[in-house]
Amino acid sequence: MARIALPDSPAVVAGHGRAAIFTADGELLLLPAAEAAARLRALPPPLLIHAPATFRRLGPRVMPAFDLLELFAFVLPARTAAPTPRGLALALDFDPPHGGLEAEAAMLPELVAALLHRLVQGADIALNRDAAGLAARMGQAGWCWAPFVTAALGRPDAAPSSEALRVWKRLPEWEDTAPLPPPSAHPVSDAEARSRLAAMLGPHAEQRPGQADYAGAAAAAFAPRETRGDPHLVLAEAGTGTGKTLGYLAPASLWSEKNHGSVWISTFTRHLQRQIDAELAHLFPDPSERHKRVVVRKGRENYLCLLNLEDALKSSTSGMAPASLIPLGLITRWALVTNDGDIQGGDLPGWLSELFGTPVILGLADRRGECIHAACPHWRRCFVEHTIRRARTAQLVVANHALVMTQAAWGGLDDSVVPTRYVFDEGHHVFDAADSAFSAELSGLETGELRRWLLGAEGGRSRARGLKRRIEELVAARPMLETPLDAALQAARALPAPGWHGRLGDTPTPTLPRSAGEGETGRPNATEDFLRLIRHQVLARILEDDYSRGSVECDVYPLGPGVAEAADRLARALARIAGPIATLRERLLARLDEEADDMDAATRNRIEATGRSLNRRALNPLSAWQNMLHALADQQPAPGTRPSQVLFLRLMRGEGRREIDVGLHRHWLDPTIPFAASLAAPAQGLLVTSATLRDAGGLDPEVAWEAAEARVGAPHLPSPAIRAAVASPFDYAAQTRAFVVTDVVTGDVAQLAAAYRTLFLASGGGALGLFTAIRRLQAVHVRIAPELEAAGIPLYAQHVDAMGNATLVDIFRTEEESCLLGTDAMRDGVDVPGRALRLVVFEKVPWPRPDILHRERRIHLSDGDPKAYDDRIARLRLRQAFGRLIRRATDRGVFVLLDRQTPSRLLSAFPAGVTIRRVGLAEAVKQTRAFLLESPNA
Ligand code: SF4
Repeated sequence: MARIALPDSPAVVAGHGRAAIFTADGELLLLPAAEAAARLRALPPPLLIHAPATFRRLGPRVMPAFDLLELFAFVLPARTAAPTPRGLALALDFDPPHGGLEAEAAMLPELVAALLHRLVQGADIALNRDAAGLAARMGQAGWCWAPFVTAALGRPDAAPSSEALRVWKRLPEWEDTAPLPPPSAHPVSDAEARSRLAAMLGPHAEQRPGQADYAGAAAAAFAPRETRGDPHLVLAEAGTGTGKTLGYLAPASLWSEKNHGSVWISTFTRHLQRQIDAELAHLFPDPSERHKRVVVRKGRENYLCLLNLEDALKSSTSGMAPASLIPLGLITRWALVTNDGDIQGGDLPGWLSELFGTPVILGLADRRGECIHAACPHWRRCFVEHTIRRARTAQLVVANHALVMTQAAWGGLDDSVVPTRYVFDEGHHVFDAADSAFSAELSGLETGELRRWLLGAEGGRSRARGLKRRIEELVAARPMLETPLDAALQAARALPAPGWHGRLGDTPTPTLPRSAGEGETGRPNATEDFLRLIRHQVLARILEDDYSRGSVECDVYPLGPGVAEAADRLARALARIAGPIATLRERLLARLDEEADDMDAATRNRIEATGRSLNRRALNPLSAWQNMLHALADQQPAPGTRPSQVLFLRLMRGEGRREIDVGLHRHWLDPTIPFAASLAAPAQGLLVTSATLRDAGGLDPEVAWEAAEARVGAPHLPSPAIRAAVASPFDYAAQTRAFVVTDVVTGDVAQLAAAYRTLFLASGGGALGLFTAIRRLQAVHVRIAPELEAAGIPLYAQHVDAMGNATLVDIFRTEEESCLLGTDAMRDGVDVPGRALRLVVFEKVPWPRPDILHRERRIHLSDGDPKAYDDRIARLRLRQAFGRLIRRATDRGVFVLLDRQTPSRLLSAFPAGVTIRRVGLAEAVKQTRAFLLESPNA
């Protein structure tokens, strides 16, 4: 019988400015951070949770350590937990620790014992067949848990096994199925949708009449189309708490069953994708049935590429990066049990990339489009290929806005499948998602990426293969194919060469001398030349160089000296790349016909896939860039001219003012035009839904609907949209309080910090603080963290803690007394029902960012009232943020806006029943405390 042995180590949990150490002798110490760090250096490597975050709080780096998260990932692969003592305790069915940092530190050894005990119990299960050999191999690479794991598995002397890393050998192969015939066209009636909903909810569910009304209204999106190019578009606003997910899943699933077709459900955030997947348990309680009928589909860059994994293992075992064998070992464990191989937001814990570095984990996905398809030895076990095939026959495909828009624009992604029925949840994001999907960017990063895709890594340690190596079996000994390929690769040297960043600041001249970035032919590098000139123009034109911003922009016109000539040279250089690639693609695809009789299926598949990637990765961007460059030759438009597309130049900066990119950008003035043309019009039916489609704003209801319709492109379709709205069932008057604080000068960081501190203390934690600038967030964090922690309120922050957003939100959801600071990105990504979120504090009104694109839109898309356009965006954002507060009928919460200049006209953003009071900070604090303390939930 295996024995559990624990490391003879202290346990440490770090807070802000202090840390608790639980020594191996059972002594509990609470010390200032620096003292704790010094003490730890004299002790054996400590047990801890999340080494990067712990060491950031302790100050000087202390290594090595026994990180419980690594053990957790090994023992329970494809499971996740908030990376805190409480989070791990809950995941392991323990009562969470109470009593601050000391209690948490004292619990770590118990958690280690529980994890090892699971290995003892599961030593014989299939998952653990090679686990001891794998752990021993990871031990060779320095994994400190290895001896404890092998002992728990009953094999303390297990020989290191490299074979255990070759996970692809143990994965199932996919099987092809015949393509599905087109779906039939049976409608779903209002009554059918309601009765399907009732069946999904079961006989004992709480009655929500609004939900049934919503399901009935949503059914209209599934009616058969009557005229080509004229889909049924339903706009359905469902107040928070309506239960809209099940509301639309009812008609969607019914339509799919009746017609043997798939409905694509698109979300903006990953979180909602996961939530929908979970809600589908109502429809398909049997997990294997669910796996067959529902697919969560993401871009291929999200999935583990087994060939990349194999390459990374080779580098690691050849001694190039031996320590990377530890994360790779954990990934192989996960790959055996993952639901779909998604390494970004799937069932791989997000904190794994925080522990080992994002490039180590995300570099295992096919992020650069280097897949070699059927030539890959792992093709038949590939996660991407599995998902593509499952999606072809699934009833419901859960995807995201960016993916479905790209798919529609390209007429299919990895095959020619384009859906005909869509549900756009989080429909208030359709405009922004379309803006991003249909924009184009001619920048150093984008063009440099194309060079790398074509030419490979060009030295360095990267494994990137160039196009020639990727398709060599398809073109070898075929001069008709080799000639255009070689020509394209030669011409690709006009794209930025490695190290282009460092040359951006060189003095631009219209006729550049030879430089480090020039092509082999001796010509100046046309792209670098252009980039230098537009960088020069940006710096010349901006009014003030505000380094606090991540980017600075300027208008394209009038063009700076030499830009027109450089643009022309670059357009010609890009044409020299595009021409041969188009020829190569054409001739490759011609092989499909010419050799139809004796071509095997794998080669056919490969040629088709290569044709798609030549289009997607090279021809499409090259064509967009050439068009943008040609547009620069146009006259400067007269003032007030409405552009269909907006061009501007942007210089991006990273940490420490470092310039990271410069480029020419093109956005549609109204991105719902391409959305309507490429996605909506070809579809048969679309439901666009959200809790916040309309701007209340005291507007005429008709005007509010029209504005909502304009945000999703309805005016660009032949028939009017069908409108539906269901009010929230929540009693906002009783469940919420809202304040605008009138006596805080938000520009004064001390005052701002005091406001956050007192409000967070008044709520006893459970607060989300939202900022419009990272610098102010960091300044406030430094000032308030120690006092909050002394009051037993842990504070976490984006841009401060060594954790990603998803991890921070997981912690915030799990640690009910914690507070979280974040910027805009947090506003939409946080879905925290219950007590863990009871206070939202906004630093400032979330006005739209005053950039060039917004300038043009507020002029030309506002019907002559730019101020109302700005107001509408700010109100929708406030409404969206307020919606985070109350997720259930039992939730109570307080919403505070610290911006005393908040115009009253924005206050209609909030749901009916909410009364906004303008009060001083002291009064807001007092009422917050009173309201939350009298709450039955508080
Ligand atoms: S088929 Fe492509 S994505 Fe899949 S493992 Fe092979 S190279 Fe990677």
